[in-house]
Amino acid sequence: NVPVITIDGPTASGKGTVASRIADRLGFHLLDSGALYRLTALQALRGALPLSDEAGIAKLAQQLPARFRDDVIYLADEDVSHAIRAEEVGNMASKIAALPGVRRALFDLQLGFRQAPGLVADGRDMGTVIFPTAKLKVFLTASAEARAQRRYKQLIDKGFSANMNDLLADLRARDERDTGRAVAPLVAAADAHILDTSAMGVDQAVEQVLTWYTH
Ligand code: C5P
Repeated sequence: NVPVITIDGPTASGKGTVASRIADRLGFHLLDSGALYRLTALQALRGALPLSDEAGIAKLAQQLPARFRDDVIYLADEDVSHAIRAEEVGNMASKIAALPGVRRALFDLQLGFRQAPGLVADGRDMGTVIFPTAKLKVFLTASAEARAQRRYKQLIDKGFSANMNDLLADLRARDERDTGRAVAPLVAAADAHILDTSAMGVDQAVEQVLTWYTH
């Protein structure tokens, strides 16, 4: 019975950073489920598949040649760690994530990440759909403004250009898509601990999650 910690929350809530720090501290595996949607989106964009082609996009997800190694994300042999962080790819990811066929195609792939000694899984539906029996469930939130600030800094640090007003609008649109969709909408699991990080640094969030896990 391999322990799982799920960390769900809206876009740019800091889930990814917190999840990877927790995984490091506990020596657990890490599942960045958003990356799977981003990889599928990148392939759909490159293949110019329209959103209406649910079967085609689901097939891309089903056959996704995703590999994760030492913080590098590969699509077959290509390092796409940078490419999948572009706003365009994130927006497409949130659109294809609303397609039930795509979510079904990625289901088993995600379960496969549950390996000893443990897993930290971050995303939108880790605690509600993929790992409903997780030992600890955390729902990370922050105000839209705080999240837009973080996303801005992330993009600039990675060498992308960014505009604060556009980011805030994108983020709100993505929140609406993530919470309003019919399948696996973004919602805290009934048994999740809620952590608002608007006025909290990463270190503090990490310590809080570890405290919940060990107590
Ligand atoms: O977390 P990240 O921004 O990388 O996720 C990209 C998109 O993938 C999100 O906007 C969301 O719509 C979708 N996603 C999802 N379920 C997950 C993880 C991500 O629907 N478990």
